[in-house]
Amino acid sequence: MVNGYAGKYLDVNLKDNSISTLPIDMDLAKKMVGGLTYSLHILWQRTKPRINPLSPENLLIFSTGPISGLVGAARGTVVFKSPITELIGHSECGGHWTSELKFAGYDGIIFTGKAENPVYLYVKDDQVEIRNAKNLWGKTTSQTEQSIMEDLNDPYVQVISIGPAGEHLCGEACIIQSTFHAFARAGGGCVMGSKNLKAIAIRGTNSFPSVADTEKTYELLYNTATYAKSDVIRSAIWGSTTFGSPSSQVRSADIGRGIFKNFEEGDHPAITQIGSPTQMRRNRVWDSSCTFCPVACQHQSIVRSGRFVGTYCQADWDSSANITQECLMLDPDGLVYLNAICDEYGIDAEGVGGVMAWAMECYEKGILTKQDLDGLDLKWGNLEAEAKLLWKIIHREGVGSLLADGFKYFLPKVGKGSEKFAMQIKGIGLGGYQPWLFKERYAVNNIGGHHNIDSPGSYVSDSLLYCIFARGIMPQGFASGVDYYYALFNAVTGWNFRKEDFDAFGLRGTLLGRAYNIREGYGGVMPPCEADVYPEKAHHALTYGAGKGKEYTKEAFLADRAQYYSLLGCDQKGIPTKETLRKSGLEFTIDELEKAGAWR
Ligand code: SF4
Repeated sequence: MVNGYAGKYLDVNLKDNSISTLPIDMDLAKKMVGGLTYSLHILWQRTKPRINPLSPENLLIFSTGPISGLVGAARGTVVFKSPITELIGHSECGGHWTSELKFAGYDGIIFTGKAENPVYLYVKDDQVEIRNAKNLWGKTTSQTEQSIMEDLNDPYVQVISIGPAGEHLCGEACIIQSTFHAFARAGGGCVMGSKNLKAIAIRGTNSFPSVADTEKTYELLYNTATYAKSDVIRSAIWGSTTFGSPSSQVRSADIGRGIFKNFEEGDHPAITQIGSPTQMRRNRVWDSSCTFCPVACQHQSIVRSGRFVGTYCQADWDSSANITQECLMLDPDGLVYLNAICDEYGIDAEGVGGVMAWAMECYEKGILTKQDLDGLDLKWGNLEAEAKLLWKIIHREGVGSLLADGFKYFLPKVGKGSEKFAMQIKGIGLGGYQPWLFKERYAVNNIGGHHNIDSPGSYVSDSLLYCIFARGIMPQGFASGVDYYYALFNAVTGWNFRKEDFDAFGLRGTLLGRAYNIREGYGGVMPPCEADVYPEKAHHALTYGAGKGKEYTKEAFLADRAQYYSLLGCDQKGIPTKETLRKSGLEFTIDELEKAGAWR
């Protein structure tokens, strides 16, 4: 029985157009569960160490989880070796595509090889075809989606695609789903572009797979749907439902955790110009939701007048903070405009925003001149210059070609001390929060400077693939949303995991990610403690407003990191001990880590 699981991955080799199915290994699923961790295990097993991330040997693995397709579990994950860090890369995304994949009868899709010419994959239940996409190459993501829907004559097909950024192999290229959702971080769109894979269109007409305890599953889902309408829950999720994640624009500044001027300050006097109440009054048009989610935290915006009239986007916090606050660009219509470019052209706004903020600081300090920047007057907050630089990066024009490779590659070329201002870790720019808030978590993250993933807890959520923003919708009788998801998982699979089993599983995932990175040479910076660090600027004290006096000192960081390594069962260099790996059921990694010189 494969309760909760569709039972198979699609296995697609783009080199010879072969398509097969790979049955889910249920013994392995009990250890790796699904989603992120199961995919990471596939990546470990099926790729040789130290492959070039843009070579055909790299894999691109899209996955669902065992409760994907049920209330609050609409997320999917994509796993690959990252072209901007040369470490594990993964990214998670909401929307409808992942549920559609499950309903088509698959737990995931594994891509390997490289197509000779641009192609897209079409899946309708058992019908799976690699189709010509020459006519789609060069199109934006919404144009691609529209063309595929017309081609297939199916308005319900769910499409993910890359835009020109992925086609030009920009390191920060992402994969866009249904215009507004993104598998954003770590360069998945770049890997997809390297495979000449323009899009994946899915239509699933099956129902959810079998479940172990039908009555319990139904009771949990029914109670969740009913209780979600209650005043208690509506008020608990009011912030998400009303403002969505962009509410963080003002909330962040209010507690000094904003990222103004390349993280210089955590607060700014003009924040209300761009905050959610302004966005709501000025630009909001409608709200939407991922599959079956009663929270509906997604809010679409449109520019109603002026030079950007008609431009629309879904401005989430993570897609907005770095292109606005970090670059000191506080024009609310500019926020919509830049977000729309990132979505249409398929580039991670969070990552590329950090690159542009770094370039602005280098311009201010004279490290980069107007000439270096192809004539752009890249002053803080200069929207026109920022938009032009973004365009250049997407299309690899002039200085954009240099910056498109990502921090890891362009910093040594620029030199002149510019690395001191690069708010990045392991090649990935920091997200929209000050280091004092997320402490060591940014620095020890397996994928690089992301704020909220790659902890044992996030390996659980990204493997079950429930949404952390939907944790507030648990039915009565549950102490937390996480407990509800655990109960749903157990009712569906029949496995009766206890809390300690989930904790052990989360630890296993985190350690497997770390082991993968060590096998790959930790992106060229070994031992791990040399790479699990903040840039110098991250340790400065904030001086303005609500942030005044807040600081994450190097000493505090080193103490927190030592504690984290110890909790993980790693030595002080950040390497898991052999005993830790054995205890976590990861003994199969030991030989490879030995070869990589981990314990030398
Ligand atoms: S809470 Fe928001 S992001 Fe999460 S599933 Fe619901 S609508 Fe999607």
